[in-house]
Amino acid sequence: MESREGNRVQYSGAMVIAKALGRNRGWRPIVAAREPNARYDVVVIGGGAHGLAVAHYLAARHGITNVAVLEAGWIGSGNTARNTAIVRSDYLLDASFRLKHFALGLWEGLAQELNFNVMYSPRGYVDLAHSDGELEHMTLRANAMVLRGAEAKVLDRAALQARVPCLELDAPSRYPISGALVQEKGGVVRHDAVAWGFARQASRQGVDIFQNCPVEGFEIAAGRLQAVLTPKGRIACGQAVISVAGQSAVLAGHAGFELPLTPVNVQACVTEPVKPVLDCVINYNAGLSYVSQTDKGEFVLGGATDGYGSQARRGSFARLEDVLARAAQMFPFLSRLRLMRHWSGTADMTMDGNAIIGETPVAGLMINAGWGYAGFKATPAVGWTLAERLATGKSPDLLLPFALERFATGALIDDAGIGPYPWLH
Ligand SMILES: Cc1cc2nc3c(=O)[nH]c(=O)nc-3n(C[C@H](O)[C@H](O)[C@H](O)COP(=O)(O)OP(=O)(O)OC[C@H]3O[C@@H](n4cnc5c(N)ncnc54)[C@H](O)[C@@H]3O)c2cc1C
Repeated sequence: MESREGNRVQYSGAMVIAKALGRNRGWRPIVAAREPNARYDVVVIGGGAHGLAVAHYLAARHGITNVAVLEAGWIGSGNTARNTAIVRSDYLLDASFRLKHFALGLWEGLAQELNFNVMYSPRGYVDLAHSDGELEHMTLRANAMVLRGAEAKVLDRAALQARVPCLELDAPSRYPISGALVQEKGGVVRHDAVAWGFARQASRQGVDIFQNCPVEGFEIAAGRLQAVLTPKGRIACGQAVISVAGQSAVLAGHAGFELPLTPVNVQACVTEPVKPVLDCVINYNAGLSYVSQTDKGEFVLGGATDGYGSQARRGSFARLEDVLARAAQMFPFLSRLRLMRHWSGTADMTMDGNAIIGETPVAGLMINAGWGYAGFKATPAVGWTLAERLATGKSPDLLLPFALERFATGALIDDAGIGPYPWLH
């Protein structure tokens, strides 16, 4: 049942039954409440899944446990809790593919590593093509993936109908469906469980996690970070990482530098639950509408950004209507379901739609930002590689293309081929 090694607690089936018989009392808190130390080797700013993953891998892989995670709200309350939970690595450009594919490998073993059921469900990611030209491009992407060791296949209309029987291929629609690129190892992971799994494992290895503790400023001397300033006081640190998603530009401003990104709204919603009919994640590419069905039976739907800079976390009806109209073209039966919940998150979009990870102009201060609405899938890889950067002082190869300096050198990673327009990515 409750096995202990030091202050470690393992969950087990027997433990859950015993707690249930004991009127669900006596659970030990996952995140201990205490006052911060005066100094930490590493301070992670932002207790989303990314920041918590960094803390976990610092402790687990490098034995660095004098670490604090400072979270402005409660852990996992940002984009981690707001995303549509899709994971995949079906990217054409090498830098994007390699980081996300490394993450996909880590997702597979994460529940065992964390002893926490993160519900990785490799149910297949189906990316629809709406013209023969688009299908040809998907064939190029599939070939590139296979050549780099991933699994991918391209389906024609008949094979697609067999893979997703409830998909409407023949109704009169604005955009025909010509086929699809499928990555069967893509799917979904339970986002809240990811945050709590990393938090619990980091905490039991000795990392301190503080909630309701926003970083409000930095103390910098001769270009080097000395301390972070919080309502709990000044906390000195050897190094710190800004990992605050939609608030990245604000924190960079506190440290005296600018980031090439714009905060935009991204919305998502769920329908009422019904019996299982959809066993994959499907993406309507002509304008973006991605749909999956949860284990509870709800349909989760998301789409593109609202298309303008905003910190409002309040979505526009125009975008919602757009997403639902496309989803109803794929699955006309969806129009008979009620929408139960609808929300939005602030995504920090860079000029090339890709992340910024690594050094900043302030020595000792790292950045992990610009993930927009595509960063959940990379969570374990971000944690793994950024922890290595902090521990060794050397960026692993997987991170090098994502350096901030690419906006000065011009080595952009524009997966969508859209150009320098953050709101279009
Ligand atoms: C609607 C929507 C759908 C999405 N769907 C997907 C998807 O299907 N697949 C995918 O891969 N990605 C998706 N994403 C993107 C994904 O959610 C993010 O890229 C990812 O969650 C970023 O993780 P994070 O830990 O950096 O961010 P967060 O979870 O936002 O964590 C950052 C934390 O920093 C905290 N913070 C802010 N300011 C401060 C401060 N001053 N001091 C301390 N803490 C601070 C915040 O409270 C927050 O908890 C989606 C995003 C949205 C909004």
